[in-house]
Amino acid sequence: MKLASFNDHRIGVVMGDRVHDVTACVPAALDTLPAQRMRWLIEHWNETRLQVESIVAAGRGSITLDSVALLAPVPAPAHVFAAPVNYQKHIGELGNRAVSKKGRSAREQGFFLKAPASVVGPSEGITLPRGSQRRFDHESELAVVIGRGGRNIPRAQALDHVFGYTCLMDLTMRIEPGTGEEERSMRKSFASFTPMGPWLVTQDEVGDAGALRNSLSVNGEVRQDANTRDLIVGIAELIELVSSVLPLQPGDVIATGTPDGVGPIVAGDEVTIEIERVGRMTLTVREAEQMAPRPY
Ligand code: MN
Repeated sequence: MKLASFNDHRIGVVMGDRVHDVTACVPAALDTLPAQRMRWLIEHWNETRLQVESIVAAGRGSITLDSVALLAPVPAPAHVFAAPVNYQKHIGELGNRAVSKKGRSAREQGFFLKAPASVVGPSEGITLPRGSQRRFDHESELAVVIGRGGRNIPRAQALDHVFGYTCLMDLTMRIEPGTGEEERSMRKSFASFTPMGPWLVTQDEVGDAGALRNSLSVNGEVRQDANTRDLIVGIAELIELVSSVLPLQPGDVIATGTPDGVGPIVAGDEVTIEIERVGRMTLTVREAEQMAPRPY
């Protein structure tokens, strides 16, 4: 099943070119916190799924997909965890721009955090800081959405905690030579630097997420083209790692790291990510209208 957040945080099931509005399955009490509806639905999926399916089966009131504004499927996750460089061919590509110290493996680097408020959906687009001379890069990543939370989840049981998958762009402001050390979470947490979508696909529909083509293009030119079979730290091991540090919550997002082909984006670009059996989304890049008081 493909679950989407759209318009003012309504919940939809996407079937072909139609969206079935199933917001009625979520308690009205969440009308005051609409961005939390998807997290509630994920947490209560086992007892809500039949109701969702019956609304879809009734087929009343569905609308066309191209008439809605798609938001990130989980618009307000409690956490966005992210793996660093994590495909066999990617290490070394960043050269002296690399964030991590040379010679450290993906496994040794662990994970980092992106600010949940940096999450946007395809209808919102990517906004770069105004007037910056820096380089801003795209990273094409499969994102895991956690269903059942937990602490200290061993990798053998980890996939039971997965709710589904979505496409995620991990956008990064690069360190310029001579700038010195800058903290990675900050450079990856500008508002809109974590696009997700176009929807999330439940685990049963994706099947083995360890063999999915993951590609990204800019203005139609393919920049990244890889397969999740080349992940160094796999999905189950990432869940084991993160949950060893703190409890995972329903709706938490784990970005699984980028393959090679990381490259720059500038205002005016159209960036498209496509992950096999998950989806395809395009975002437009623009420059912020306001100059920040602390420029980059
Ligand atoms: Mn990344």
